[in-house]
Amino acid sequence: MRPDPIERIRNIGIIAHIDAGKTTTTERVLFYTGVSHKIGEVHEGDTVMDWMEQERERGITITSAATTAFWRRSYLTPEESKKNEELHSINIIDTPGHIDFTVEVKRSLRVLDGAVVVFDGVAGVEPQSETNWRYADEYKVPRLCFINKLDRMGASFEHSYNSILERLTPNAIPVVIPIGTEANFSGLIDLILMKMVVFEGEKGEKLSYAEIPDSERARAEEWRAKLIEKIADADDDLAEKYLEGGIFTVEEIRTSMRKSTLAYKLVPVYTGSSLKNKGVQLFLDGVIDFLPSPADLGFVKGIDPDSGAIMERKLVDEEPFSALAFKLQSDPFVGQLTYFRVYSGMLSAGSYVLNSVTGKQERVGRILRMHANHREDLKEIRSGNIGAIIGLKDTHTGDTLCDLEKPITLEKITFPEPVVSLKIEPKTKADQEKMGLALKRLSEEDPTFRIKGDPETGDTLISGMGELHLEILVERMKREFGVEANVGRPQVAYRETIKGKAEAEGKYIRQSGGRGQYGHVQIRIEPMEQGKGFEFVDAIKGGVIPREFISAIEKGIEEALDRGVLAGFPIVDIKVELFYGSYHEVDSSESAFKIAGSLAVQEATKRAKLVLLEPVMRVVVITPEKFLGEVTGDFNSKRGKIEKISDRGLGIKEIAGTVPLSEMFGYATALRSMTEGRANFNMEFANYEEVPRNVAEKIIEGKIK
Ligand code: GDP
Repeated sequence: MRPDPIERIRNIGIIAHIDAGKTTTTERVLFYTGVSHKIGEVHEGDTVMDWMEQERERGITITSAATTAFWRRSYLTPEESKKNEELHSINIIDTPGHIDFTVEVKRSLRVLDGAVVVFDGVAGVEPQSETNWRYADEYKVPRLCFINKLDRMGASFEHSYNSILERLTPNAIPVVIPIGTEANFSGLIDLILMKMVVFEGEKGEKLSYAEIPDSERARAEEWRAKLIEKIADADDDLAEKYLEGGIFTVEEIRTSMRKSTLAYKLVPVYTGSSLKNKGVQLFLDGVIDFLPSPADLGFVKGIDPDSGAIMERKLVDEEPFSALAFKLQSDPFVGQLTYFRVYSGMLSAGSYVLNSVTGKQERVGRILRMHANHREDLKEIRSGNIGAIIGLKDTHTGDTLCDLEKPITLEKITFPEPVVSLKIEPKTKADQEKMGLALKRLSEEDPTFRIKGDPETGDTLISGMGELHLEILVERMKREFGVEANVGRPQVAYRETIKGKAEAEGKYIRQSGGRGQYGHVQIRIEPMEQGKGFEFVDAIKGGVIPREFISAIEKGIEEALDRGVLAGFPIVDIKVELFYGSYHEVDSSESAFKIAGSLAVQEATKRAKLVLLEPVMRVVVITPEKFLGEVTGDFNSKRGKIEKISDRGLGIKEIAGTVPLSEMFGYATALRSMTEGRANFNMEFANYEEVPRNVAEKIIEGKIK
């Protein structure tokens, strides 16, 4: 039997709006889990203190893409908790807070099985929480809520809980309630055990249960009744007992809540204050009790890379190995780490795997498991677990790693195209040499970060998902690679597309002594749906153009499309059909046909109603009512379309709509000064739309970039 039964693994993410307290909460999680682990190994109480000393010296790392922690539920009796069998492992997959990194959130949602969503107890649900919640819905990720910061001035458990009910899900139900709030926040009541929870010790690590004080009794009963009603509502097996007035046992409650949480029928809500060391352990118990283990998922779907047939793998050790590489990270000590999640089978260090996307074999040098304050070398890793490989050379984010003999390709992680770019220039000659390598590394780690060199000017253009995204990457280049660079102003990644159909001919014929050049093609083009990119159809009949020149023509066309025709932006969503042409026995060559293809497509696009497209963002602003006029006025002046203005209570308004990205640069600063710093906003990419004529003209003339 494997040492870590799959039922005792949890792969989770901690998801939060920026500033809700994700860092503080994660740090507490790693601290408590470290303490808990130690308690299990040695029975003396003072090992906890030893561990805390070590932790102080080395510090906790929370920058790993995945950190493994061990947890024993805090409500277990000392006898129960000394049994090693009760140790669960929790792999915490890092999810970033800022919206420019929603891609990262999506990428992590792909490999995690459950999530803890952290809220600020003052603000309740914020716009970005809604975005992330929707993503988690999309990926069907069961989750828990943690209403944090109850000690802060202005915090309200009820208000925050109601905002979850109204804005996110009617299925949310508290399993813990606070005693007092703000400065008077003093403790918690566990509604399942109907006990008060007491946190003692320097970081609240000593947890015990006591009777609920009389003053809190009635309130606790009320919330408990709501909890029981919700549980019965979601679970047919218990509904009857409930109606007959039966009393549920603690075991029944936990079993039923687990079932309903896994089925998205219930979302347990926890609360507390990470900073004041209250409540974190309780939601960790919830992670074990209510969130899925890989065994609950049952199987993973993929395709057979040879036949294209859909296949399924059970998430067990006995199946052939399959895993998804979900994050590349360069490490100062060991080089490139490839984080991966094993779905089925096992993998040993020193063995070989197939990357079924590239078709290449790769050697697995070492397998690491990252802990809060150390890394562990594993001999092997089994289904359901998460680790990092050292030694892979050609594996990218989203690639499948699998058994050499039993290939499978798991569903790829798809990434949106970057929407913002800027010019970057090394400061010195020395920087120039290092910059190429640094950019290459960073773009390998982050699939939404792209590099493009302009062969004419020698400039390097980097693109990503937003201003902040690029700022951070430039900063990392400086810090991690020692490269100093001057950066230009952010520019919108415009695109070009056609709105009509057209035909054109491309001829490249040179006959000037010696060997000549001969390439001649005729093509037809038509628009495709947004997001379809480029499609090439070879409709040549009777060998009017020999086979061997076709791919050169396609290449010429593709390169010309990438260079753009209207204003130098890539032409997208276009279908090109090569239907006729001619060749010369002696003079025809690949390069001549490549040029002919390029000429033809440039000519054809000019005839097919070329237009400019711009990225449009979905923007949500939350502001006190007194600034509503100003915010909406500004929205309109930005070519924005307001879709909805709604009331969020307490004199707060929400404005939702769309605005072209080019109008949104510097918005954070502008909004702050417009509203005395009291509004906040969230934006995410919505779609590409045609640029209005008057604006497009200026872009084409190069007056705005
Ligand atoms: P992140 O941006 O979500 O990672 O949030 P951080 O953990 O960095 O927290 C943002 C700020 O909120 C920091 O100043 C924290 O000290 C503070 N903070 C975090 N948790 C709490 C809490 O429970 N109570 C209070 N009062 N402040 C908190």
